[in-house]
Amino acid sequence: MALISSTLAEVVASMEALYDPSWAESWDAVGLVCGEPGQPVRKVLFAVDPVAAVVDEALAWGADLIVTHHPLYLRGTTSVAATTFKGRVVHRLIRNDVALYTAHTNADVADPGVSDALARAVGLSGPLRPLQPSAADPRRGLGRVGDLASPVTLGEFAARAAAGLPRTAGPLRVAGDPGRPVRSVAVCGGAGDSLLGTARAAGVDVYLTADLRHHPASEHMEAEGGPALVDASHWATEWPWLADAAGRLTSALAAGGTTVEARVSDAVTDAWTATITDLTPEHLEGLG
Ligand SMILES: [Zn+2]
Repeated sequence: MALISSTLAEVVASMEALYDPSWAESWDAVGLVCGEPGQPVRKVLFAVDPVAAVVDEALAWGADLIVTHHPLYLRGTTSVAATTFKGRVVHRLIRNDVALYTAHTNADVADPGVSDALARAVGLSGPLRPLQPSAADPRRGLGRVGDLASPVTLGEFAARAAAGLPRTAGPLRVAGDPGRPVRSVAVCGGAGDSLLGTARAAGVDVYLTADLRHHPASEHMEAEGGPALVDASHWATEWPWLADAAGRLTSALAAGGTTVEARVSDAVTDAWTATITDLTPEHLEGLG
């Protein structure tokens, strides 16, 4: 059977079979943001953030659809006027017939989901289980737990994780003795400090996530016996999922007899764009 191009409705149906919107948290906003169900979709760009750099990339490539992990509008809005960056995103997309679709917390808890791809990227090759299983289906849930093939030091684990994740301006941060041996690992893509206690209860040697804050991390480290911590950039911990989702979408569509060309955005849209070590003498000359 020759493959024919897909409609937006077909792509959305495939995405929703992989990442059921009913799995999303109640505060979340997932699904189609703009686009007409009957429009053809030949090229799909996967990205973490619905920001201007990603729209630039989509238009330059001729994408018909952008799938992002983060929602454009998370709270209710009464205006999409091009007087805000979000409104400008909507206008540029609609003017250019580009649809926008979001899979967020429904992709976090999917099996496999965001943290499976993160776990693979930081060196976990064996079986994985959710760190916090969903009540409705324990195969799904937030975060993942698994074992390294052999124990390594915390420092070596962090170095491997840094090498396995895409580069961002901010470095990986580590809390704990770098010489401490680690084998069992918990990971959670995105901001995972709400799962610090869960990672401790799971008895793992190290917990890798993003956006860890001073007080929760400090209190966790002062209470002895818990896992070491590795804090990575938010964008970098979710980016590995994009290729996984792109592959699953194209396979699902091909099984149904349609096709799309999928691509993962290489725009680094982490909020942090430089550290002090990136600054030149000219930046610093005002210090006198
Ligand atoms: Zn996120």
